[in-house]
Amino acid sequence: MEHASQTGRSATDRLSHDVRVVLEAYLDLDPTDLVHYHSQMQRFIHRLWYRKKITPDQFVKLYLVQGKKCAICKKPPARGGKTKFNFDHDHGSSSLLRGLLCIPYNREVDRYEKLGLLFRAYMDNPPAKQAELNIRIEDDYHPKFVPPSKETLSRLQDKLDHGTRLKELLDAEPSMAKETLKSFVPRGLLHLSGDTVEQIRTLDAVGTPHPQIAKAVGVYPSTVKWIVSSLR
Ligand SMILES: [Zn+2]
Repeated sequence: MEHASQTGRSATDRLSHDVRVVLEAYLDLDPTDLVHYHSQMQRFIHRLWYRKKITPDQFVKLYLVQGKKCAICKKPPARGGKTKFNFDHDHGSSSLLRGLLCIPYNREVDRYEKLGLLFRAYMDNPPAKQAELNIRIEDDYHPKFVPPSKETLSRLQDKLDHGTRLKELLDAEPSMAKETLKSFVPRGLLHLSGDTVEQIRTLDAVGTPHPQIAKAVGVYPSTVKWIVSSLR
């Protein structure tokens, strides 16, 4: 098969073999269809230069660095599509080319760029600051966990080890929030006694629902689930 370039036709001939082969594939060109091949190749090279001031060598270098894929979604260009990739560039002061992106992701990057500027302006100069309000807001939903002292923990663990159920412990320690005390178990600060573990296992074996076991023993349903599954 005679290769298209061997017939000697202008712009295409000035390309190195490697660059030409990459462009052929990128543009879905058939080297045996000479007329179409040359017109499409010329058109691409001219547009590349007149619209973007990018040479074919530079284009191919970038395309290969990206592994012939969109720099974000990593998909290769759609075959047969008219526009393959967009040339994404900085819309700020630099105007620098960043990379080749598929059309949907090029749009997303434009959006991200605009939102980025809005976010930065908000963060740098929030309205509360402009209003000179210096107010601290604590996060109600995730209060900071303050671990109990070692003495408290060993006292509690001692009770658990000597037959006190967690449920009873919750009632016996009014100074401690029940939920906080319960959370010591999944946090690994307190260990359930062997008796309690055995009780959980027995109740589970007879088909007692986990929330019901949890209530009886005084732990979270997630703790019941964790104990039952670790015993299987
Ligand atoms: Zn993409």
